[in-house]
Amino acid sequence: MEFQSMTYSQSGFELKNTSGRHATLWLSKIGDIKIRYHRKIPDEADIKEVTVKKETTGDWFVSFGLETDDADLPEKLDVDSLDSSNSVGIDLGILNYIHTSDGKTVDWLDLEDEYERLRREQRKLSRKQKGSNNYEKQRREVAKVKRHIRRKVLDYQHKITTWLVREYNAVFVEDLNVKGMLEQSHNARNKQDAAWRQFITLLEYKADLYGTHVVQVEARGTTKECASCGVETTKPIWVREHSCPSCGFETDRDANAAMNVLQRGFSELGLGWPEDTPVETALPTDTHSVSAKRIVETGSLGA
Ligand SMILES: [Zn+2]
Repeated sequence: MEFQSMTYSQSGFELKNTSGRHATLWLSKIGDIKIRYHRKIPDEADIKEVTVKKETTGDWFVSFGLETDDADLPEKLDVDSLDSSNSVGIDLGILNYIHTSDGKTVDWLDLEDEYERLRREQRKLSRKQKGSNNYEKQRREVAKVKRHIRRKVLDYQHKITTWLVREYNAVFVEDLNVKGMLEQSHNARNKQDAAWRQFITLLEYKADLYGTHVVQVEARGTTKECASCGVETTKPIWVREHSCPSCGFETDRDANAAMNVLQRGFSELGLGWPEDTPVETALPTDTHSVSAKRIVETGSLGA
């Protein structure tokens, strides 16, 4: 059978004998095939579509198009009930981590080993004769490493975003200006931006599923602006502390940015900053770091 991809809509498929991560998928014209889940299908979802696809690595993949009935979705908390205890602002770090307005930092995945392996496989590929069998074999090796990295990142982002929408009633993130980002030429920066865009897409997708408000706010100046008095001060990237020359407010640079994101989120929803909550007391006094390893192992942060 020669095909790259095939889609079944509404009928012609049946999922049976699901046990843990394994199941049997029956497809008309093909028959029973054994599959292994990369991610669990939510109980309340209906499978509307099944796509069978051959990847560049030569492996086969099945993806499911799911539909959830809107009536089953949890309701979002009334915006008037949102405050700094059940809402969070997030600073998406250039240094590959997130910092929350309530003082949590989550390290990004350490992918050094994976990228090292990718460079090694790419070097091997560059030494093969184009069009030869060996070239083709090595091309698949490169594709495999890339796929491994993509999956690892996606899996990790799923875990962080699920944690966020479960933990908070409102999550505010910076609106990444796609156009502005694409105009930047630095490759590493672009890769990071692509990762953040995927992160935000996941967050927004989960907002409805978990009944959480997810709002993107204006990103300009979140680092410069003082979260306490609003005065803007330029600080170079290596200055990790926010120390306001105008009001004297001092905190971590990223905590200040995350707090600004939180405030912008509130005003985006038409809410003022709760008057009885001065920024100084809303900000945590110390920051606790949650390791990437721990998220991957437990699937939740629950600091
Ligand atoms: Zn200030």
